[in-house]
Amino acid sequence: MIAFENVTKTYENNQVAVNSINLEIQKGEFFVIIGPSGCGKTTLLKMINRLIHLTEGTIRINGKRISDYNIHELRWNIGYVLQQIALFPHMTIQENIAVVPEMKKWSTTEISQRVRELLEMVGLEPDKYSERKPKELSGGEQQRVGVIRALAADPEIILMDEPFSALDPISRTKLQDDLLELQRAIQKTIVFVSHDMQEALKLGDRICVMKDGEIVQIGTPQDIIQNPVNDFVQKFIGIKDDPFSVFTIQQVMEPFAEKAHQNYVHSSVAVDDSLQHILQQLAQQECVVVKNDTEIIGIITRQSMLHFLASKRGDAND
Ligand code: ADP
Ligand code: MG
Repeated sequence: MIAFENVTKTYENNQVAVNSINLEIQKGEFFVIIGPSGCGKTTLLKMINRLIHLTEGTIRINGKRISDYNIHELRWNIGYVLQQIALFPHMTIQENIAVVPEMKKWSTTEISQRVRELLEMVGLEPDKYSERKPKELSGGEQQRVGVIRALAADPEIILMDEPFSALDPISRTKLQDDLLELQRAIQKTIVFVSHDMQEALKLGDRICVMKDGEIVQIGTPQDIIQNPVNDFVQKFIGIKDDPFSVFTIQQVMEPFAEKAHQNYVHSSVAVDDSLQHILQQLAQQECVVVKNDTEIIGIITRQSMLHFLASKRGDAND
């Protein structure tokens, strides 16, 4: 279905982000790519729909080189969900979902039927939600719309780049469950990037662990847990109750309130920074904002971090 043959991406600054990757993703597979910050996950994903051009090698979809597809055809047939909720703010939910079907010139009736069907599929009542604007929905609801928007024109492939990492733990778990259920029903090929091993183990048919632009191990969740190929994978799976291995930023991140927190905008951490790094930052200041590229997606206070560490300490003593 999706085949990588010796694919390398070197950025202009000679940074080798992805190094000679060989990989085959099967039709209908839920394939999770996982690894630490900067290991090349996003680069690998974006090469599939040609948002990033590869430097060497070949990527094929159904046997045909991606460079031989018409770019619009390629993009319309590949759904794409980003980490930050990226709905168009001035458009209604219905209009947001209809973007690609409209480009594909579906009829008005077909489109409104499809929008209803999709909203129902993820438990958002169409009569209640269709005409609302994104800001009238919670973060979890918006990201649910982000997911069904990617499905709207019935693409064969869906790419998801850490789609749930900006959500609170409850919405996150709920969306993971929904996505699994959805996948059972629609059987699409999903390529899902994550930096959270728990999430990867829960969702993936197979997991691909990356480090420094290379594949360290590919296997089913069971393979990875039972036979980690090296210490790196072993560490990534995590030892229970060790705060450094179970840490995910969602456990300490709170929503960012512009007014109350504007003084902290100058000091930031990235969504996939290590606990070690965040602790160092918090040793010097009361709170830091969490950014995904340039966008602020939340805030971490010293207090929420202490709560997290205390809770892990409690677990360890139980
Ligand atoms: P991940 O998604 O795993 O965090 P990325 O694919 O975003 O990793 O990045 C892989 C490597 O390539 C990193 O070292 C990053 O700094 C570098 N990189 C990413 N985008 C660019 C770019 N546009 N120009 C130069 N280097 C980049
Ligand atoms: Mg990334």
